[in-house]
Order: sequence, then C-alpha cells, then structure tokens
Amino acid sequence: MSDPSNGRPLPTPDPATEPYWAAAREHRLSMPRCEACGEFHFYPRPICPHCGTARLAWAEVSGNGTVYSFTVVQRAPSPAFADMVPYVVAIVALDEGPHLMSNIVGCSAEQVRIGMRVRVTFLDGGKELSLPLFKVQ
Ligand code: ZN
Repeated sequence: MSDPSNGRPLPTPDPATEPYWAAAREHRLSMPRCEACGEFHFYPRPICPHCGTARLAWAEVSGNGTVYSFTVVQRAPSPAFADMVPYVVAIVALDEGPHLMSNIVGCSAEQVRIGMRVRVTFLDGGKELSLPLFKVQ
C-alpha cells in the first residue's frame, strides 16, 4: 500500500491512546466512558473530568457530530502538506459530547460551515494507523 500520508507526521500511539488507535484500525471510533456517570470524554485521562472517578472503560461512539469550529489552512506548514492545501482543520462536537480535532474531507474547504453535520470516515495510512477524519453527512 502506498503511504497516503505522503510523509506527513502521523500520531504515535502510547499506552493511554492505544485503544483509540486500535478501534480506528477497525474503522470504529472509540472514546473513554465513565462507568460511574456514563459521560464520554476525550482526550484520554486517568480520571473522569465530569465526576472524578477512575472507573473508565472504552466504548464505541456513533461517529456522528457537528462542526463546532474550523479553520482553512491555505499555506502548507511543510512541503509534506503541499498537496493538501487548502484543507480544513476542525473541532468536531460528537453527538455523545466529546470534542476532537480532525479534518473535514470530501467537500471543498469553502463549503464547510459551523453547525454542519458530519460523520467519521477513516484514512488508512502508514505505520498501521487509520486516521479518523470527518465528511459531510
Ligand atoms: Zn464520571
């Protein structure tokens, strides 16, 4: 398989984030969920930011969300990104609550709007990673 990241830096899973990346490799979006209050959170933390308990487990989320905020990158931060510009970096508010940073793909950067409904999609890439991205619903 060719490297769809085109030499761009990719995330490095660590023990705290490995469940997230393992689910992504199976094209599932998974987040830490508190077993006490039931709330999801992201990024992974050792205690629930909602109630403070350490009883957490990973659980799959729907992958559906809304564009909370975004910016359009017009100038490539390095030559490895030159084939991507313009591209959208967005904060997506998942229906389950957590917000995460990702890219909006499958439409032109000019089409992206705050409040737009999006759904997760996955880019299979190098280093045996699949990147969760979002496309317009
Ligand atoms: Zn909690």
